[in-house]
Amino acid sequence: MIVKKYFIAIFVLAGLLFDLSSQKIIHSVRLIFFDVGQGDSALIFLPDGRKILVDGGPDDQVLIGLGKYLNFFDRKIDLLILSHEHDDHSLGLIQVIRRYRVARIISATSFCDSHACESLFVATKSHNIPSEVLMDYQKIIFGPNCNLELFPPSNPGDKNINNRSLALRLVCGGAKVFLAGDGEKDEELGLLSLGGDLSATVFKASHHGSDTSNSENFIKAINPQLIIISVGAGNSFKHPSLSVLARFSSLGIRFFRTDINGNISLNFLGTSYPQISIDKE
Ligand SMILES: [Zn+2]
Repeated sequence: MIVKKYFIAIFVLAGLLFDLSSQKIIHSVRLIFFDVGQGDSALIFLPDGRKILVDGGPDDQVLIGLGKYLNFFDRKIDLLILSHEHDDHSLGLIQVIRRYRVARIISATSFCDSHACESLFVATKSHNIPSEVLMDYQKIIFGPNCNLELFPPSNPGDKNINNRSLALRLVCGGAKVFLAGDGEKDEELGLLSLGGDLSATVFKASHHGSDTSNSENFIKAINPQLIIISVGAGNSFKHPSLSVLARFSSLGIRFFRTDINGNISLNFLGTSYPQISIDKE
């Protein structure tokens, strides 16, 4: 009898913890740019609690981030987006698929040149996850005043895999966020040529702050107030480029870097500019 009561108490407590945790993520849009070294991975919480993971970094570090920011009982990723197939964006997703319930995957192209990319698609198939290759512009409506625009690469056959990056713009509950994978200048010109509204308060620097991306006209079209650079300390590519950092500064844009600031969490409390918190171990 005592044992039974004990178990009931545990379940009640577990339920309370789950409810409290859920309430924390309801009513606001939250983004966490994980410190995954030289790579990209960002988790988006929507106001209704659904979660989108964009890229998974180069290894299992993404699991540490997910473990830190998701409730212990919460194993569901509602939408997983792969910007492009390079290892520093895709490899970590293999373990995510194995350890979390991923409801849906959207990627940019059907090309798959690397072993890592093939492993990812095998994992997707073996877990029966519906997956979709984005061929056309798509807008996913998540609720009133909450949608996600997805832009396929303008040249999906580009030999430069970076230019096969899928870009996305989240407009939700006051938040406007633009992420463009590792798209380089040709891809940025493709996005500009669409002539649509690319504006966002928050922009993730493309290609880890490389000067092959982040062209001035593109940044001006987005017109961000805050830029997040997802980059590994001491990386061999010398990302981010000093000239790009100077460009951001000359445009008066504040920026944070995962190599210096660690995990970067942005909490939009119905406002266009987020509360920023950093978590560097
Ligand atoms: Zn990359």
